[in-house]
Amino acid sequence: MGLVPITELLQKAKKEGYAVGAFNCNNMEIVQAIIAAAEAEKSPVIMQASQGAIKYAGLEYITAMAKIAAENASVPVALHIDHGTSFDQVMQCIRSGFSSVMIDGSKLPLEENIALTKKVIDVAHAVGVSVEAELGKIGGTEDDIHVDEKDALFTNPEEAKTFVEQTGVDALAIAIGTAHGQYKGTPELDFARLEKIVSLVDTPIVLHGSSGVPDEAIRKAIKLGVAKVNIDTNIREAFVEAMRDVLNADAKEIDPRKVLGPARDAAIAIIREKIRVFGSSNKA
Ligand SMILES: [Zn+2]
Repeated sequence: MGLVPITELLQKAKKEGYAVGAFNCNNMEIVQAIIAAAEAEKSPVIMQASQGAIKYAGLEYITAMAKIAAENASVPVALHIDHGTSFDQVMQCIRSGFSSVMIDGSKLPLEENIALTKKVIDVAHAVGVSVEAELGKIGGTEDDIHVDEKDALFTNPEEAKTFVEQTGVDALAIAIGTAHGQYKGTPELDFARLEKIVSLVDTPIVLHGSSGVPDEAIRKAIKLGVAKVNIDTNIREAFVEAMRDVLNADAKEIDPRKVLGPARDAAIAIIREKIRVFGSSNKA
């Protein structure tokens, strides 16, 4: 089958109490690893490309690889842009063949975020592409968030309700204590806030920066209503560690396939592990 939007994947996930993993891809080996893991687990899957991935691999290459992967896959596959920065860029992704986009207007005041998201949705929905937006500020791990800052940075449940009502967005990324990159300590998620948001908002909720969040916390968040979980850092770690092992064992190795092959295998293993934690095995 071809690439599918994330809308039905996430609605089914929310209804049945699991989450679909959204895994970042940067090169051919990671695209192949994501598909191989999803097929082995018989799980739906979301491949996503970040700004960095598009810059590194090129928009056409990413789209072409994902299309081939989806056409040959026996499970539903979506291609999604992670943190789309502007209307123009998101339109380029749609034209290139992405089945889903994220428009990140979280740095804007609420009204402007709503207006930008609505503008993207009007075009995307007309051509069958799903849209994720973000409300609240998801930190980098370098950001130390103090308790008194939570209300300013984390997603406000009432604002989430307004946002969803006014935009009709397909998935909403929220800030409840996760961060992008490698964590220094163990992240503490604001489950009470998540519960409140889910009680006010029907739209599937997205958790960003989920590498390094303990499995138990991820399971609890999914139980409360998170339907899409983003993983990037864990794949990078597994991929590069496997490459490093090969090169440490034989500094004279010059065959890229012998370095990248084991890295691809390591990525498959970590993605399968995450899919099992998310509960989406056998849900394809
Ligand atoms: Zn993110």
